[in-house]
Amino acid sequence: MAYLQSGDGVQKTPKIIAIANQKGGVGKTTTTINLGAAFAEKRKKVLLIDLDPQGNASTGLGVNQDQRKVTSFDILLGDNDLASAIQPTSVKNLSIIPATTDLASADILLTDKAERSSLLRKALLDGSNDIAVYDYILIDCPPSLNILTVNAMVAAHSLVVPLQSEFFALEGLSQLILSVRDIRRSANPDLRIEGIALTMYDRRNNLSLQVEDDARENMGDMVFKTVIPRNVRLSEAPSFAIPVLAYDTHSKGSEAYRSLAKEILNRTKAKGNIAHGA
Ligand code: ATP
Ligand code: MG
Repeated sequence: MAYLQSGDGVQKTPKIIAIANQKGGVGKTTTTINLGAAFAEKRKKVLLIDLDPQGNASTGLGVNQDQRKVTSFDILLGDNDLASAIQPTSVKNLSIIPATTDLASADILLTDKAERSSLLRKALLDGSNDIAVYDYILIDCPPSLNILTVNAMVAAHSLVVPLQSEFFALEGLSQLILSVRDIRRSANPDLRIEGIALTMYDRRNNLSLQVEDDARENMGDMVFKTVIPRNVRLSEAPSFAIPVLAYDTHSKGSEAYRSLAKEILNRTKAKGNIAHGA
């Protein structure tokens, strides 16, 4: 998806990262919002796409129900162009395409649509001029490996996988990795796992340490060095409709997401500008 060419040569293209794990409540939305805010703080232009019918990322960034006129659902269906769905947030450099519960019907509604797995990718390609200003596009996925998550994986360059530091955390991971392999074979050969982020980590809890050991032993470098601690500020921030970086900028949660953003930026730099073959 090297989709931006111009007279001056190839322009920067947004890097598209899906935040995915089919397990519920592991920190996907918290990671999407706060990683987005941390990139934005580093003067990166970020577009967040809420692809979860729960709409938690939209709520967490202050987009009320009555402000969700054009949503990710309309974009998937091809009913509206991308630009019309993008809204600013209270955070500088951070915009969002919100979601409504309509998305829950996507599985059924899209059954008959040809190319049902690549609707988001197509929308992003068609709207490439509208997203040319962004450095990062972060997609918040629902807790399922359904058609919505598949659309995110087909559209993305890479995945960030939040892994809750709890028992059973690793069990779902193999299924997720199998899905990634499927998508690579079928629709998006360049899809990579950007990294696995341990979330709700508690250093005083043996279980956290054990999950970390297991994850690092099995997944090696794929596990980010940064771990996201369990931090009450992270869970409070959404009720104020702002990222934790704005709510309590010196909290452990804020520092952790800044560190995660830095790690991803450094990885990207080390690998050079990632082109998306297609
Ligand atoms: P879903 O699968 O329902 O979309 P999710 O994977 O997006 O859930 P979140 O909504 O980000 O998970 O987090 C689940 C709950 O845990 C939320 O109440 C959130 O505020 C809280 N939470 C997430 N990360 C942390 C953390 N590091 N410390 C404390 N609370 C956290
Ligand atoms: Mg969520």
